[in-house]
Amino acid sequence: MEKSVSKSSVDFFEKKEAGLKSAKGDVLGSDKADAFSSAKEDISTKTKGNNIVNDESIITLAIESSCDETSCAILKNGREVLSNIISTQIDIHKKFGGVVPEVASRKHVENISIVVEDALEKAGVTMDDVDHIVVTYGPGLVGALLVGLSYAKGLSMATNKPLTGVNHIEGHICANYIQDRNLKPPFVTLVVSGGHTHIVEVLDYNKYNIIGKTKDDASGEAFDKVARAMELGYPGGPLIDKLAKEGNPHAVEFPRANMNDGYNFSFSGIKSSVLNYLNSEKMKGNEINKADVAASFQEAVTDVLCEKTIKAAMELGYDKIALAGGVACNSQLREKMKKMADENNLGLIYPSPILCTDNAAMIGTAGYYRFINKRIDGMELNAVPNLKIGD
Ligand code: ADP
Ligand code: MG
Repeated sequence: MEKSVSKSSVDFFEKKEAGLKSAKGDVLGSDKADAFSSAKEDISTKTKGNNIVNDESIITLAIESSCDETSCAILKNGREVLSNIISTQIDIHKKFGGVVPEVASRKHVENISIVVEDALEKAGVTMDDVDHIVVTYGPGLVGALLVGLSYAKGLSMATNKPLTGVNHIEGHICANYIQDRNLKPPFVTLVVSGGHTHIVEVLDYNKYNIIGKTKDDASGEAFDKVARAMELGYPGGPLIDKLAKEGNPHAVEFPRANMNDGYNFSFSGIKSSVLNYLNSEKMKGNEINKADVAASFQEAVTDVLCEKTIKAAMELGYDKIALAGGVACNSQLREKMKKMADENNLGLIYPSPILCTDNAAMIGTAGYYRFINKRIDGMELNAVPNLKIGD
């Protein structure tokens, strides 16, 4: 997938390395993030557009279109977000109770250039200021991915700026680097999104090791399916989160699945158990207290997520945990994990809600760390709908 670094990329790195060396003395050693951030403080700045952009700062343009959000972000030195434009299609897909792939692709085509132009304008930069382009190439819906990828390739070719492909899930994890500018690997991450539930060891900026994953449904998928069964709407996660605040989390004892299977998860059992409960109560003619069901379901899911993540951190000797993905917005997950992390003297980081759900800023951060490790892709980069972390 990756090609050897092109001539223009070599020139780029030579220029940047020279700049950073003159600014700091020794840089681009083992810990590049440190080098870049400390070098940044030393070098003089000049104004480009409306923003203060260092001569030696790296400006990233990132594009995300893996599912139902078209997004473009501009970042400075990987962690400073100058703009993060997100055009969501939720209102369109709501009518169908889930994302319709064909509709998603068409909407990405309509939105992509507007979103990119908007991101540049909000950041106060032009394409001339941009040093490199980053794009999600998987996992996701193939038609949706191809829109962002084709656009990014076209932009890279037209402007002669290097292109780096990014794994969407690695992007979710990297949202934590934006949230906490001092965060450094290693740490353990719980990735909980609409399509994935993983416990991942983040060994280095570009080095991941999956130690646990769901054997069936993702946790976000379980939230969405349970919400649909209760006719709450789409996406279900935020609606269950809100409704659960009015309910009793111990009203119904739903199963805590796979508690003995290492760091792996299973959510299809609890989902079926909620559906069975709803059906049997209906057949008995009992009125269903939706808030109680939402609170009890959420309690069961968050119990398993928290216990397994804390166990992984403790057993593997990590001192901090990060949360990532859309379900990391869940208020009970955050509270419960915080309480358990405190009890075990573990640090906890989670991104603000806008950085938890799909956005291009997190993709930009992931791409920046690949780029400074000279990971450049060529025009042969293709969408990989089932891309795995670390591929
Ligand atoms: P993907 O990358 O797989 O498309 P996202 O990272 O965008 O998924 O997350 C979307 C998922 O997050 C949806 O399943 C949604 O229901 C869930 N979600 C969003 N907010 C919350 C919340 N507050 N509580 C639980 N789940 C949530
Ligand atoms: Mg996502």
